[in-house]
Amino acid sequence: MSTAELHRLPSVERLVQRVEEDLGGTRFPRPLLVECARAVVEGARARLLQNVPVDTSLESLLVEVRALAARWLAPTLTRAVNATGVILHTNLGRAPLSVRAQHAVAEVMAGYSTLEVDLQTGARGSRYQHVESLLEKLTGAEAGLAVNNNAAAVLLALAAVAPGKEVIVSRGELVEIGGSFRLPDVMAQSGARLVEVGTTNRTYLSDYERAITPATGLLLKVHRSNFAMEGFVREVSAAELVELGQRRGVPVMYDVGSGAFVDLRARGLPYEPTVQDAVRAGCEIVTCSGDKLLGGPQAGIIVGRATWIQRVHSHPLARAVRMDKLDYAALAATLQHYLDPEEPWESLPVLRMLAASAEDLEALAMRLRQAVVVSVPRTWQIEVRSTIAEVGGGSLPSARLPSYAISVRSPQGPDALDGLLRAHRPPVFSRISDDAVLLDVRTLLPEDEPIVLEALKHASSV
Ligand SMILES: *Cc1c(COP(=O)(O)O)cnc(C)c1O
Repeated sequence: MSTAELHRLPSVERLVQRVEEDLGGTRFPRPLLVECARAVVEGARARLLQNVPVDTSLESLLVEVRALAARWLAPTLTRAVNATGVILHTNLGRAPLSVRAQHAVAEVMAGYSTLEVDLQTGARGSRYQHVESLLEKLTGAEAGLAVNNNAAAVLLALAAVAPGKEVIVSRGELVEIGGSFRLPDVMAQSGARLVEVGTTNRTYLSDYERAITPATGLLLKVHRSNFAMEGFVREVSAAELVELGQRRGVPVMYDVGSGAFVDLRARGLPYEPTVQDAVRAGCEIVTCSGDKLLGGPQAGIIVGRATWIQRVHSHPLARAVRMDKLDYAALAATLQHYLDPEEPWESLPVLRMLAASAEDLEALAMRLRQAVVVSVPRTWQIEVRSTIAEVGGGSLPSARLPSYAISVRSPQGPDALDGLLRAHRPPVFSRISDDAVLLDVRTLLPEDEPIVLEALKHASSV
């Protein structure tokens, strides 16, 4: 390394000036530009001092500065196309919102809102009002509220209903839900004491009955939403548990988890416990997620007997886990779809994707294949393949949904193509199988089709 090379490095000031003179690109805030230029010059100097070859030309350093500054301004949270075939893809944000819910969010986002006012009197109101009566009407429960997510709903309900008390749970229902929700840990944080009964695969009503003591505060049932048990299995139904609870004066709480508000069997899908069924069975408290089968925003729903819900409301944790105004707008709009029993199947993307028929999906895949074939080089192999889509998001673990995908084989190989699709803006998420990239059509939204085409076309031109 020669000192001459070190001296040839342009000054930070010169780099900043050049980027600002170049009107062709994004305008960067000056302090950011100075910081990035300094980092680039220092990086080049350090490499030179270690005798690592460096392109010290002004042009090359400018490219580095611009790229570094652009990275700060590029959003990391953007929309994405889900062609994975996993409907409730937790990493891709779980449930896509309905059009009505999107509009409701946009409206509230744009300015001030009626979040906590009583419109009649102008006095202070409660944010809970926006979903309270909808939850009561739709679930048949006496009262209801929504909080940040279902993990928060379970934590809050346990803390409010059984503080310092024993909570009896079947060993077969001590679940872990992805993203570190482990029931025993949540229970510990709530201040309730876990009492396990039964075995992993079989729990009887008598197991619960024997465990009841004067210190018992709750019988808890948890839906095994993300795994299925088959074979030599016995679990106690919500109704049986309620009968025992009433006899012994202990309330029953049911964490339904996946949160279906309609019977999925109506569309030929496997049974998922609905919130309504849990309420009808007599459970005093029922909790579920807002962004799983309900098809709404991230939320945790708690419904049940008015006296318990009142306790939940007034617990100090309620404030800590309260929901924000945008989620209220989205949740209220999502719940409104359920006022018409048919509408959720039309308007909520999650239910529409769940109910889509294999014939319709095949027709869509054929149509998309035609469009892809004329957009990419002849060397690419584009086929329609039958696949199995999943519900995901810890729901209906054993449901196998027949679906169709566009299978793409390109000269660059599946990993490179998969990467190029992800590098597209918005990114397209696919899966790889048998050396081909599969784009499952069950999880595509109508507006995603041109994006998929565009991303493939772009990938074939690099
Ligand atoms: C998903 C799930 C949770 C956690 O819900 P989040 O809304 O993700 O916080 C809790 N319990 C059960 C049974 C679940 O399925």
